[in-house]
Amino acid sequence: MTATLESDRRADLARVLAAVPTGLLIDGQQRGAADDAVVTVENPADGQPLLEIADAGEADALAAVRSAAAHQGSWATTAPRNRSGILARAAELLDRQQEDFALLITAEMGKPLAEARGEVAYAAEFFRWFSEQAGHISGSYGLSADGGTRILVSRRPVGPCLLITPWNFPLAMGARKIGPAIAAGCTMVFKPAPQTPLTSLALAQLLAEAGLPNGVLNVIASSRAELITGPMMRTGALRKLSFTGSTEVGRILLRVAADTVMRTSMELGGNAPFIVFEDADLDVAVEAAMVAKMRNMGQACTAANRMYVHAAVATEFTAELTRRMTGLVVGDGLQPETQVGPLIDAASQLKVRQFIDDALDRGASVAGIGSVPDGAGYFCAPTVLTDVQPGSVLSQAEIFGPVAAISTFTDESAVVAAANDTEWGLVGYLITENLDRALRVSEAMETGMVGINTGVVSNPSAPFGGVKQSGLGREGGAVGLEEYLELHYAAIPVR
Ligand code: NAD
Repeated sequence: MTATLESDRRADLARVLAAVPTGLLIDGQQRGAADDAVVTVENPADGQPLLEIADAGEADALAAVRSAAAHQGSWATTAPRNRSGILARAAELLDRQQEDFALLITAEMGKPLAEARGEVAYAAEFFRWFSEQAGHISGSYGLSADGGTRILVSRRPVGPCLLITPWNFPLAMGARKIGPAIAAGCTMVFKPAPQTPLTSLALAQLLAEAGLPNGVLNVIASSRAELITGPMMRTGALRKLSFTGSTEVGRILLRVAADTVMRTSMELGGNAPFIVFEDADLDVAVEAAMVAKMRNMGQACTAANRMYVHAAVATEFTAELTRRMTGLVVGDGLQPETQVGPLIDAASQLKVRQFIDDALDRGASVAGIGSVPDGAGYFCAPTVLTDVQPGSVLSQAEIFGPVAAISTFTDESAVVAAANDTEWGLVGYLITENLDRALRVSEAMETGMVGINTGVVSNPSAPFGGVKQSGLGREGGAVGLEEYLELHYAAIPVR
């Protein structure tokens, strides 16, 4: 790209930033925080400030809850086709504004523009999927076993929802919750991650343009989540919590949700095993590993955390993965040549370095390390380690960085036991050309999802979610809508 095109891109970002609403969105109105607090959003590629926005405190959070509660009754009775139409228009608007949203995502979160464009398309697909579901919310009419009672079952919106999202997919994680909530007829208080609130503020503006009535979606960006969330949940006005984030915070919120017995959907952390069997197609294996490891700079709940490679193919697989990973261009995601962006912040950068040092201290070896640009960004070189020992922090915690941690195996049942030896159970990956083995191992995996000969499982039409301490409930697919609906049963005696 020429210098002119590069400066055009910076100019486009400046235009996009200037259009982002910087207030809290409560009852359709933009407002500052009651205590005038503001927070600055930074670009992780250079540490430079992007925009200053309102920072919600408890009074603002409670006002947002009141708004969601006040609008629930009228919103629940809108025609499903109207709600479907809003979502369809939102998908179209996102398609049309793909480049602007991609610029915003890259600027505040760091992923390369190509990946950010992919995230916009993924988010639009959630709106499209739930637009298609909205008109098909059904019930049933039946007779009791003794023939004496008619059983009339309907589905209705669960009520006002609290939506809390992480920073790693600033648009898609919100769309995955807002889409089904709109389809079901629920109002919302949406608290995006403090590192990446700009995309959510722009999304709320887009939804208003698509026809979403005032007060249905209230957005409160806040750096004070631990202070405002409890008071909101304890009002009793919110009937559901949908949280995506770490298992650690998920546990805290589950305890708070118990106080008012809220419905919960919890999309928590992962520690995905990636198993390459001796009969794998190694081209498929490396391609899948690249996606499962390097998407989002390794900062995905679905990231391949522990790579188990059969000893017979380990040398070849490791050599090719190392060649591919270390050849990637690390840099500012806004630069056209960049294939790997920065990590989200300095703490993440430090944590990944410490994980690598710990693994090396425990006997791991370096197969290869890529390079990083000079400068202020929170960059981390793509790194491949072999002989990673089971006791290493790399094997036990979410790495959330571009580090492939490889160990070898020879026995199928032993590797399945190792893969399952974790408190997490979000996703696992299997690479094998043997159908019987693929099905056998897939069934034995203690995870909510399995990728077989692929490094991607995320799909709006599929039920995304984990077992064990990776979460409760599913997002996407037909069940993604059920999470926002309650069953209602009326008994009618036969007379
Ligand atoms: P995080 O748990 O630190 O924060 C997530 C959200 O919770 C943010 O909005 C944050 O402001 C809020 N929060 C933090 N502390 C809180 C508290 N005490 N009370 C209320 N809210 C609080 O997670 P993160 O660093 O933003 O995101 C990374 C984590 O998210 C990883 O563990 C990753 O695996 C997980 N994740 C899971 C999925 C999934 O679908 N399972 C998807 C993406 C990310």
